[in-house]
Amino acid sequence: MTLTPTDRFDSLHDEFDRNHLWHPYTSTHNPLPTYKVDGAKGAVITLADGTELIDGMSSWWCVIHGYSHPRLVEAARRQIEKMSHVMFGGFTHEPAINLGKRLLEILPGNIEYIFFADSGSVATEVAMKMAVQAGEKAGKKDFITIRGGYHGDTWNAMSVCDPVTGMHGAFGSDLPIRHFAPRPECRFGEDWEPEYFKPMKELIEEHHQTVAAVILEPIVQGAGGMYFYHPQYLRELRKICDKYDILLIFDEIATGFGRTGKLFAYQHADVEPDIMLLGKALTGGFMNFAAVATNRKVADRISKSSAEVMMHGPTFMANPLACAVALESIDMLLESDWEAKVRKVENRLKERLSILKDELGVEDIRVLGGIGVVELSEPADLGRFQRRCVEEGVWIRPFGHNAYLMPPFLAITEEQLEFLCDKFILILKEFLSKNG
Ligand code: PMP
Repeated sequence: MTLTPTDRFDSLHDEFDRNHLWHPYTSTHNPLPTYKVDGAKGAVITLADGTELIDGMSSWWCVIHGYSHPRLVEAARRQIEKMSHVMFGGFTHEPAINLGKRLLEILPGNIEYIFFADSGSVATEVAMKMAVQAGEKAGKKDFITIRGGYHGDTWNAMSVCDPVTGMHGAFGSDLPIRHFAPRPECRFGEDWEPEYFKPMKELIEEHHQTVAAVILEPIVQGAGGMYFYHPQYLRELRKICDKYDILLIFDEIATGFGRTGKLFAYQHADVEPDIMLLGKALTGGFMNFAAVATNRKVADRISKSSAEVMMHGPTFMANPLACAVALESIDMLLESDWEAKVRKVENRLKERLSILKDELGVEDIRVLGGIGVVELSEPADLGRFQRRCVEEGVWIRPFGHNAYLMPPFLAITEEQLEFLCDKFILILKEFLSKNG
């Protein structure tokens, strides 16, 4: 029997799911359709009816080696047979020690301490708590950030997300008040002018006595607007933070592990943060895990604060299974020719997406590393867009005004990338012509 598209999708939407399970940012009254996935391997996601989709999202930017990579599966299996979990209070274990050592080898030279956390949002909370504890003696407990940022969905993380694209609309008056500088005006690759830093400089000069830290995503702002800015901004920021004894927190949760063409995005600017957040691709996207890394100055100040200890300790801290998978993932990345692979993806995305530059309704096209963004003047209808993607055999999920590709750069083949670009362009053109 040949199924019509409607019949085909009916078999992929689950009634229990629709009636009882919450998906990210959805209403229970009128949830967007979800598609039942049966498995995923490499850069291919297989739906319950056997339909194969080439993945353009890396499952929200975390998958780098592809799905179900045999080495990661084996690392997990090896660890599970020993112990999947044991508390980190009073115990330690080889997976945590080995991962800690490997991270210190690849993180900025000033970094000496690592706190293993559960998720990106929790890592943000931990980093902000570190900054407040470290700033206690000097009376510094406020934060400065830039507009267009995203740092997670927990309370403090929300407070430093962009006030417009973030969740200030729903929770604003209940969130702690933060200081926001405008989004850095100078884009990546443009010429730098000192005046681009003026708004941040003024904000810091006004509030430095109470500000514990500046928190931001280095170079690439992700969920807050998919925007790439000039590395000089970070160099200026480092200088002024040093001058006023303000900590600098780089959220590398989305940018870490090769995504922007460098192992970490801070390397575009070559300045070291005081606190650095890792998540997403830390385990190659295999499972949930995050880390907060910091230097001796911060650790010493926390130890000399009134609490005398770092005040956080989650149940699943340094989960051995996640540590073992993360170590394997980092080793695989370092053993691979990841730089050449990211560059290849970058070049293809630049070439292929540029075809859309004169289309009515396209505001901007920008590509950096394994990230290709097409900014639209009108947000695409998400339900309709995803349906077309599934019909065409790709998985792409636009975010507001931004439609983008972020494929698993170490797994996707040249053919798969061409297919993904073909379909992305086809579907975008359809939507643009309907909007126009
Ligand atoms: N920071 C950044 C830069 C992120 O992109 C994200 C996730 N999109 C987070 C923090 C939050 O991570 P998680 O979803 O794992 O809580």
